[in-house]
Amino acid sequence: MKYRCGRCGGIIDSKDLEILPGIRCSYCGYRVLYKVRSPTIKRVKAI
Ligand SMILES: [Zn+2]
Repeated sequence: MKYRCGRCGGIIDSKDLEILPGIRCSYCGYRVLYKVRSPTIKRVKAI
């Protein structure tokens, strides 16, 4: 599982979050992170 910082957009791996005290961006220290799902993006054609 990977997370993306809501401020700087840095990608943080869940393994790094376990090391850090609490959920926080390891780049800028921002506390709002969003879950990054698998890169497979399904597009539906709107006809
Ligand atoms: Zn950040």
